[in-house]
Formats: sequence, C-alpha cells, structure tokens
Amino acid sequence: MNVHDSERLSGLLEDAGYVKAVAGDTADLVVFNTCAVRENADNKLYGTLGHLAPIKAEREGMQIAVGGCLAQKDRDTVVKKAPWVDVVFGTHNIGSLPVLLERARHNEQAQVEIIESLEAFPSTLPAKRESAYAGWVSISVGCNNTCTFCIVPALRGKEVDRRPGDVLAEVQALVEQGVLEVTLLGQNVNSYGVSFADPEEPRDRGAFAKLLRATGNIEGLERVRFTSPHPAEFTDDVIEAMAATPNVCPQLH
Ligand code: SF4
Repeated sequence: MNVHDSERLSGLLEDAGYVKAVAGDTADLVVFNTCAVRENADNKLYGTLGHLAPIKAEREGMQIAVGGCLAQKDRDTVVKKAPWVDVVFGTHNIGSLPVLLERARHNEQAQVEIIESLEAFPSTLPAKRESAYAGWVSISVGCNNTCTFCIVPALRGKEVDRRPGDVLAEVQALVEQGVLEVTLLGQNVNSYGVSFADPEEPRDRGAFAKLLRATGNIEGLERVRFTSPHPAEFTDDVIEAMAATPNVCPQLH
C-alpha cells in the first residue's frame, strides 16, 4: 500500500511539473512516505530529518514533506520536533501534496493537513509506476478489525471499498498501457464488499470472489495477485474463484 501510494505521490508531483532528482543531494524537494507499523519508524524518521536539517539550511528554497501513517499519527508533533519540515500530510489526503507545498512556499510557513476520512481513493490519482509490466490497484482502504497489536485502523480508518466497476476500469486501463500483472490491494483485501463508498452499491460478501472472476475476463491480463488477505475472510467462494480463474495466481500472502 505504501509503495502504491508513493507511486501516486510521484505521479502527482510530475503532473505538477517536478522532475526526479539525479542524486539525493541535489533535490529541491524530499518527500517521506512513512510507515508506522514498526516501532522504530519514529526514531528513523526523526534521525533522517535531523541529517537533512543542515542540508536544507544551505540549500535555498529546499522543501521537506512528511506523509503517510506516521504523519497521520504524529500530526503537529512532526513540525514541533523538526521545525524545518515544510509540509505534513496524512494518509487520507495524499492528493493535497502539491497544493500544500505551494502554500508552504507562499506563506513561508509549515503546512500541516491531516484529514480524518478518505478524500479520494489514491488509485484515482496520477501514478508514476516503477514497473512497466506490473501495477498496483487499490480496491479498499482501512480495516474494520481491531487486532490488539495493530495501528492500521487508527491511521487508515474503517474499511471503505471502491466500486467494482471503477476497479475493473482501472485494471483495463493498465492492461491497455502494457501491464501484464496487477496486484489488488487492501489492508484486509478479501473482506472487500462490506462497506462500499458508493451508497448505491449494495453490501456484498461475495464481492471479492466476483471481482477475481471478473479480472479473468480482461483480455491480455496474465497475472492477478492480491494482498493482504485475512484468514477469517477466506471464504470458499474466494477459493473457488481462484481455482476457476486461470490468471489469478495460486499464491497467498
Ligand atoms: S486485520 Fe490486519 S490491518 Fe486489520 S487490525 Fe488486524 S492486523 Fe491490522
């Protein structure tokens, strides 16, 4: 999910006119897309931000942005601990990054924007894909479980499912761009169908199996994978759909 979101961030920035820096120390903008699953993520982030402070001090106009789960968790604390950070954005509003950077430049003040619920599925944003043949497609965001050790529901929110028609249209568009393999993404990918964002779309516990079968009809799509599935949601209809759909890989995370 994080890699997928990073590809969207790159795509958004390219659309806004940014180009990839040749080497790290020549960058005018550094964006951290953080993860909060492992405990030392905080230490790593603040340590790395500390290394960047003197570089930024010498490089006029350089900007630093921090997004992702740790930003969603720490919010204002990021700019309190590292006041040289220009933009802090959360997991629900990655599409705001170019505007926030612009606003930080204009106002000469750090911009912190954390939104509590999803603005738009990140898959609707432009992407700069790392691979020419493989693509990520998010089908849901968030999780309705409350596993004791896990911070995901607090930072990604309750599960919101994307309409099957939108998912399939995105897969089709990727195949038309030459993609042979897609990975369907969700925090709890096989509970897909419990809470569609579109109120017109009825709740459907068989939705994930149907979605897998429907990908089998997309001509030119050679491989379909998905991550991460939850054992409790692994219903027989999903297993049957995997068996019956040749392009769905016999692989489980
Ligand atoms: S199902 Fe997965 S994402 Fe959801 S709370 Fe449990 S560990 Fe976290």
